Amino acid sequence: NLVAVTGATGFLGAYIVRDLLEQNYRVLAFVRDPYNQEKLKTLKSFDPTGSKLTFTGGDLETIDYEKELKNVNYVIHTASPFKYSSPDPWGEIINPAINGTLGVLKAASKISTIKKVIVTSSGLAVYDIGTKKPEINDDDWSNVQDPINQPYPYSKVAAEKKAWEYIKENNENPSTNHFKLVVINPSYILGAALSPLVNASVATIVRHLTLAEKPRNVAIGVVDVRDVSRSHLIALENDDANDQRLLVSAKVVTFKSISDSIVQLFPQFKFNTNTLNNEDPEPFIFNLKSTKLDKLNFGQFIPFDETLKTMTKHLLDLKIINPEL
Ligand code: NDP
Repeated sequence: NLVAVTGATGFLGAYIVRDLLEQNYRVLAFVRDPYNQEKLKTLKSFDPTGSKLTFTGGDLETIDYEKELKNVNYVIHTASPFKYSSPDPWGEIINPAINGTLGVLKAASKISTIKKVIVTSSGLAVYDIGTKKPEINDDDWSNVQDPINQPYPYSKVAAEKKAWEYIKENNENPSTNHFKLVVINPSYILGAALSPLVNASVATIVRHLTLAEKPRNVAIGVVDVRDVSRSHLIALENDDANDQRLLVSAKVVTFKSISDSIVQLFPQFKFNTNTLNNEDPEPFIFNLKSTKLDKLNFGQFIPFDETLKTMTKHLLDLKIINPEL
């Protein structure tokens, strides 16, 4: 089976490529610049003989998906602009997110070998940061409405909604309904990257640990990157996941408690957690329930302390953070 993975050089994408290769899938990795050998190094190390992994790519909005996805059996679409602000929120974040997702789905409807498309949406399409709803599950939708000030969550909601609209219509067309959609909604992803690149979610924690920014005392769902990768493979292999939206979240914590835990786990940090305090009021802690994953026998999530240990060790080893501050 040949699986296309978009955003393959990303924090999550690299794990998915590695895990697929380990399960003996052939992988077609979509990367922004297939000629940037430096950026492909990590991915190439997963397939030293070069027999199972091939590359293609380009910009999300200009790829000829119909040509590039030929003969593919599954698509895992993780690529999406991941930054929280931009001088051009529509051009840089929202439109590429929507057009990339629609580009993949439209091509899939024309390529009869494709059986399933798995789109990586976000927990931020399920709940808003600062929500006051006590119980949240896979059926909830966030209410983000400000594309200019919240372009990233807006882009994830917009792209996911377009995907569901598209597949609903496509399912009714017997000449193109040969493939299924699964959407994965991971909460805030942390862990040790497989390459030296620091993505936007880990970068926020790095800013807290380098005292460049105070961690907000707001509640968020968190999950280990290895579990998010695993959820994509489960979605690919399990027909019960078809047409589902899968919230993938291990625990609810606050940004402040993440820094507190890291400082406790790594006594070499010289600053104490009071340095990290800010004026935020007490957070509203909600419950996030991955009801659909339970039914797919996902099993246990990696304990969050373990996620923090592997991530922080990686950041210390690469000298991205300095505990002597
Ligand atoms: P990364 O930034 O590491 O990955 C994003 C990937 O998308 C990168 O490979 C990037 O390419 C690619 N990409 C972005 N814009 C374009 C573009 N215009 N053209 C081509 N490729 C593009 O972040 P993550 O791995 O964390 O994110 C992966 C997915 O998971 C995203 O869809 C993100 O929204 C989603 N997600 C992430 C969460 C998190 O906390 N990390 C939480 C929930 C969802 P390049 O490597 O060249 O920059």
